[in-house]
Amino acid sequence: LPDSGYRGRFAPSPTGPLHFGSLVAAVGSFLDAKHHHGTWLVRMEDLDAPRCMPGVAEDILRTLDAFGLHSDEPILHQSQRTTAYAEALRKLQVGDAVYPCCCTRKEIADSALHGIDGPVYPGTCRKGIPAGREGRAWRVRTNDKPVEFDDALQGRISQRLESEVGDFVVKRADGLFAYQLAVVVDDAFQGITHIVRGADLLDSTPRQIHLQRLLELPRPRYMHLPVAVDKAGEKLSKQTLAAPVDESHPARTLLRVLDFLQQYPPESLATSDVRTILDWAIRYWNPARLQGITMLPVSA
Ligand code: GLU
Repeated sequence: LPDSGYRGRFAPSPTGPLHFGSLVAAVGSFLDAKHHHGTWLVRMEDLDAPRCMPGVAEDILRTLDAFGLHSDEPILHQSQRTTAYAEALRKLQVGDAVYPCCCTRKEIADSALHGIDGPVYPGTCRKGIPAGREGRAWRVRTNDKPVEFDDALQGRISQRLESEVGDFVVKRADGLFAYQLAVVVDDAFQGITHIVRGADLLDSTPRQIHLQRLLELPRPRYMHLPVAVDKAGEKLSKQTLAAPVDESHPARTLLRVLDFLQQYPPESLATSDVRTILDWAIRYWNPARLQGITMLPVSA
């Protein structure tokens, strides 16, 4: 089939083995890409080395393999991309879009209002660092002009960055580049046209669009899938120690993922292998059934 120009990706952080929620993002991004005859990539977001456990990246790739989810191109590792992030930061510095910040977490927590994603940075260092202190983190300037985009499932999203998030960190005090910067640089570098991921990242998207504008990078299309929650409504994250996905019965688990994604796999697939199930799911992929849904409980 001819290349459709669609380029999607799954970008796990190797902080723990793949769990049901991350498998949903992997399968959803894969099906959307393949349904559109596109290219699907896996990118290892191992930027935060201290939080990445040894062997976990390999473990995630092995699990994806068991589910028939193979990256169409060699896997990009964010740990190898520091030069590109430094270049992007340089560009922001030249344009005076960022400034150094000396504030500690505690200082911010004490003085800030609570925003959409933690405390809203009150802008303390915007006009310079107080004498005798040293700026080690870098923050990007924000404003209150709404950042808007149309999500394929969640509709029109609008956020005022300055009052809802505040100037955010692009390089951390510990010297690591922040996820928000790295993801934008890499999505552009890899020519990603469509981002399909969990709705837990919906609130991050306006920050990413802000950075895309400042760095003059193209904006991909976004589709945020419902997040898997347990019966108590808690997100199944690695932090809450959701169980790693069961690789010993990948076909069965894959059918559960398709149930979760409201794809209604037919009874006849119950005894099929992973390849057959995936082929069916690619063909009939219909994400419209998830319109407006940001979280869904996982059935047993
Ligand atoms: N690495 C991020 C995570 O695992 C996802 C990045 C993305 O899809 O934009 O939460």
